[in-house]
Amino acid sequence: MRFAYLGSGSRGNAAVINAGESYVLLDCGLPLVEVDVRLQRLGLKAEALSAIVVTHEHGDHIGGVARLARRNQIPVWLTAGTLAAWKAAPSEWARTISPHRPFELGALRVEPYPVPHDAREPCQYVFGDGRYRVGVLTDAGSVTPHMREVLSGLDALLLEFNHDQQMLLNGPYPRTLKTRVAGPKGHLSNAQAAELLAAIDCTRLQHLVLTHLSETNNTPEQALAAASAALGHAPDWLVCAHQDDGLDWRELN
Ligand SMILES: [Zn+2]
Ligand SMILES: [Zn+2]
Repeated sequence: MRFAYLGSGSRGNAAVINAGESYVLLDCGLPLVEVDVRLQRLGLKAEALSAIVVTHEHGDHIGGVARLARRNQIPVWLTAGTLAAWKAAPSEWARTISPHRPFELGALRVEPYPVPHDAREPCQYVFGDGRYRVGVLTDAGSVTPHMREVLSGLDALLLEFNHDQQMLLNGPYPRTLKTRVAGPKGHLSNAQAAELLAAIDCTRLQHLVLTHLSETNNTPEQALAAASAALGHAPDWLVCAHQDDGLDWRELN
């Protein structure tokens, strides 16, 4: 089992999860031409994708989904709320899921779980191949006890370190946007993500990827420092996913 990022951040998110012959795209907030270029960077073509799994209807997660789904005839898995809130949804390719019920996509078992975010019915996912489990958490303003339970004991974690609280507070965003980002349905700060790490079982982790970093209100250095402080050391498997460069394949073994 392995995973990679085409890009991560408010200008567009997309990750690929692979087990056996199954290649699942998680979100796609990038234009088609970028998707093709970045898939090629990973040695992939869009034809290889067997499913697109969507977290919520914000543009940085769905901006490229409809075109890609229609061009390559790929089913799109999403909650009924996300589908309802998405005006230009590729309805003919939509497969609705419950955010509480696991489902299978070829060699991958997909476990959705609900998160507090300012979208209609947002959820995040844990992907498993029967041996390893990779959890994803971006776009959440706060952490519930259920989220801590779901994300405990994973083999890899792709976790939002969106902003540094001081940088957000003193930065250029308008006041309403600052309130939204810092609010209980906004985005996880470095401190919130670090607090989550300290509260869950990280003993099995082979990869910790810091994702959805704000280019305005955070730096990779600060996010990495917060994560390594929470872990108590700075392992070489702690990395950031980048907006333009994404992240090369990371293997579980
Ligand atoms: Zn969002
Ligand atoms: Zn987002």
